Amino acid sequence: MKKNIALIPGDGIGPEIVAEAKKVLDKICEKCGHEFNYTEILLGGASIDAYGVPLTEETLEIAKKSDAVLMGSIGGDAATSPWYKLEPSKRPEAGLLAIRKGLNLFANLRPAYLYEELKAACPLRDEIIGDGFDMMIMRELTGGLYFGERKTIEEDGVKKAIDTLSYDENEIRRIAIKGFDIARKRRHKVTSVDKANVLDSSRLWRKVVEEVAKDYPDVTLEHMLVDNCAMQLVRNPGQFDVILTENMFGDILSDEASMVTGSIGMLSSASLNETKFGLYEPSHGSAPDIAGQDKANPIATILSAAMMLRYSLDLDKEADTVEAAVKKVLEAGYRTGDIMSDGCTYVGTKEMGDLIAKEI
Ligand code: NAD
Repeated sequence: MKKNIALIPGDGIGPEIVAEAKKVLDKICEKCGHEFNYTEILLGGASIDAYGVPLTEETLEIAKKSDAVLMGSIGGDAATSPWYKLEPSKRPEAGLLAIRKGLNLFANLRPAYLYEELKAACPLRDEIIGDGFDMMIMRELTGGLYFGERKTIEEDGVKKAIDTLSYDENEIRRIAIKGFDIARKRRHKVTSVDKANVLDSSRLWRKVVEEVAKDYPDVTLEHMLVDNCAMQLVRNPGQFDVILTENMFGDILSDEASMVTGSIGMLSSASLNETKFGLYEPSHGSAPDIAGQDKANPIATILSAAMMLRYSLDLDKEADTVEAAVKKVLEAGYRTGDIMSDGCTYVGTKEMGDLIAKEI
């Protein structure tokens, strides 16, 4: 199979972790006879340095023409990086929001899975962990508070900031359909998270999700308020299969779920549009504190590449192979610093990539 993949190394640890994911994909191609053509593109701080803006039209066009995009992470240290002296629309994160919008990536998928081998890194007590957990957070990505009108004004000498949270029924329906479709491939349960006791946007969310649920009689739907969901994630994470929620709630809950798994360096993600196209990236940021030191855990990016194989390229067996290789390396006791524990063998970014590629 021949495919075109746009690669975004990005900033901080981005180039290091993307190199390891590419190493693993190269091995998959070698073993399975596929051919991936890569085009490297710039986003975020790297693009600001080269072109003065965090995303150019040309970059967006290259991404659009590819079959999928694999990304590391973007951004720098907000306290010290000159990128954060620019106006907000020119900063690295603006490039990420713009590429998501430009590619119409409205559905963000983040698995939170507890590896048996990493149980020790999970901050929850054994009786809460139980048999472990395996959930998928489906977050709406292009609407809501982060994309609403915003302004800061002054009224009678008092500064006032206004952000707007709006959703229309079509935006809600398309993400709900994706959520129920994913639940059908898993344990057939959707927990829709909102704040319907307070927000109008949440009341519409709940109504539309209920309408969509009628087409999925085989999937159980439950509603949960976001504050309760934040508690339940640390009280009984095993109850969740697919969590379906809007942009800001999903942003916060998915980070909480990450922490519950024990390491942010293990968590992959996918952002999808209505076709097979998707942008795949680790859930973590660019970790400027450890950039360039061969310390970053590349597994989240390697697992993101596995999601790309599964969701955009329909290479399910190859995706299984990558996930199994990660598991084998963990079983053999190899760990990067973020997931290190007693009795394990410490490895750096490159060696972790080599070990996983060797298992393919
Ligand atoms: P971060 O995720 O980069 O780092 C948080 C902590 O986790 C740090 O201690 C870091 O060293 C550690 N960490 C993160 N990834 C790791 C990995 N793979 N292996 C080992 N340790 C890892 O979050 P932050 O410090 O809040 O943000 C840093 C920059 O990243 C900021 O500019 C932020 O805007 C950006 N960011 C980008 C994305 C993205 O590209 N999608 C997402 C979140 C944050």
